[in-house]
Amino acid sequence: MKLKSTGKKWEVDEMSYNKLNENLIDRIGEIVGEEGVIRDRDKMDDFSHDEYPLLDFKSFPDIVVQPRSTEEVSQIVKLAWENSIPITPRGSATGLCGGCVPIYGGIALSLERMDNILEIDEDNLLVTVEAGVKLMDLFKTVEDRELFFPPHPGDESAMVGGAIATNAGGSRAVKYGVMRNFVRGIEVVLPNGDVEWLGTKNVKDTSGYSLVNLFIGSEGTLGVITKAILKITPQPGATMTLVAIYENLEDAIGTVPEIIKKGLSPISIEFIEKEVIPPTEALLGKKWPTSEGEVHLMLIVDARDEDELMQIGEELVDICTANNATDVLVADTKEKQEEILDIRSNIYLALKKDVVEILDITVPPSRIADFVKRVRDLSEKYKIELLTYGHAGDGNVHVHMMKGGEESAYSPLRRELHEMGIEMGGVVSGEHGIGLAKKEFLKMMGEGKIELMRRIKRALDEKNIMNPGKIFDL
Ligand SMILES: Cc1cc2nc3c(=O)[nH]c(=O)nc-3n(C[C@H](O)[C@H](O)[C@H](O)COP(=O)(O)OP(=O)(O)OC[C@H]3O[C@@H](n4cnc5c(N)ncnc54)[C@H](O)[C@@H]3O)c2cc1C
Repeated sequence: MKLKSTGKKWEVDEMSYNKLNENLIDRIGEIVGEEGVIRDRDKMDDFSHDEYPLLDFKSFPDIVVQPRSTEEVSQIVKLAWENSIPITPRGSATGLCGGCVPIYGGIALSLERMDNILEIDEDNLLVTVEAGVKLMDLFKTVEDRELFFPPHPGDESAMVGGAIATNAGGSRAVKYGVMRNFVRGIEVVLPNGDVEWLGTKNVKDTSGYSLVNLFIGSEGTLGVITKAILKITPQPGATMTLVAIYENLEDAIGTVPEIIKKGLSPISIEFIEKEVIPPTEALLGKKWPTSEGEVHLMLIVDARDEDELMQIGEELVDICTANNATDVLVADTKEKQEEILDIRSNIYLALKKDVVEILDITVPPSRIADFVKRVRDLSEKYKIELLTYGHAGDGNVHVHMMKGGEESAYSPLRRELHEMGIEMGGVVSGEHGIGLAKKEFLKMMGEGKIELMRRIKRALDEKNIMNPGKIFDL
């Protein structure tokens, strides 16, 4: 099986899967009920793509199936396994690398009807949810109990299952880490339909291989995540958002390692170039706190109480000022903080129509200034605008390749950017995953690692029915 990138389009080689026949479709309807099946192509458009912009790529499933329980998922997967039908799990399709696109047709398995929060275990600070729970609902439910679920990938409509399958990160990762750090256990349906619980509620667990970690970030290629036990924390006593204003990129980016070295651990350190703000303000009808300066750092800080918060805030202001910030603005009310985070989270959506591709190269935090400078050099070399913004605190500054230049430059530019990131000790994806879009770049990180992944995939899914064609070719 081969999937070839021609720079702009992806061509999928033929695979010898079976087609769904009327008999199988009837059996699927019996398992999930008629309302859990979509066959009408006109209603399948949403299931043929995700948020990845480059391809304009759509690939329709033969059928969309929306189970209501693990038992139903298991029966559907078993049926797919027995009949060699490809099956692609999907959450809210907010992914940015084509991960949930059913490129071989077959079954698109949507978890959207499995959206129950099953238990909030306040004594152990754990919540057990079905995989179709949206992050926004999880945030709200725990917040109502003065608890907190820290991971925050920008699009809150993403589902828990999708966020685990991509090991999503987001802007709060600087202090709290990524999804992996919040998953204690998962229930999975394996490619042959068997159901397993991996991981437990226990804090410590060295009882054999950490299979739960194998599934986190496996992008639906090893099985369907149906439930999860997630860690939550008490709500911070006080939070503050700072916006530091700079006249140039070097000073702004140069501030980041200084903050990290001091061990201050803001929740977020986001880097934003000025030109991306007005379109986002227009999209949301909200106002960013300043139009001064060329480049901004958005810093979110939390602490146990106001005194501790003020102390950290003052230290951050001092560091920013020492690194030539012309001003540092403070948002101390919840409303102002939410407005700033909302604008930051939606920059991508505001730019999307002009974006060729959003890249996810991540470098060690100490190399970000050098990385962004070299991105600018490549932008000049290829005469393609490359806007950078994102999670500066963890080296995950997203590079946005913008429309307007020569299309023939896209492919070599993408390649050179990824080569440069790897050469700087970075990785091709920090949080979005590999999906379809980054397969050719993952190869640059070493064939040995891919071969190990192939062996794991074959051991669990010898028929290659589970999200085939993603991450690597078999
Ligand atoms: C505006 C915007 C901002 C974003 N910001 C961030 C960010 O800051 N950080 C970040 O990490 N990501 C970000 N993303 C990307 C995206 O939101 C995340 O990748 C998210 O975790 C995907 O969740 P989903 O439910 O939409 O999954 P989908 O896109 O539906 O699927 C993603 C992958 O997971 C697999 N999958 C889905 N559900 C399951 C399941 N139950 N079992 C097994 N496999 C499954 C799919 O097969 C696919 O490979 C952003 C996206 C947008 C549009």
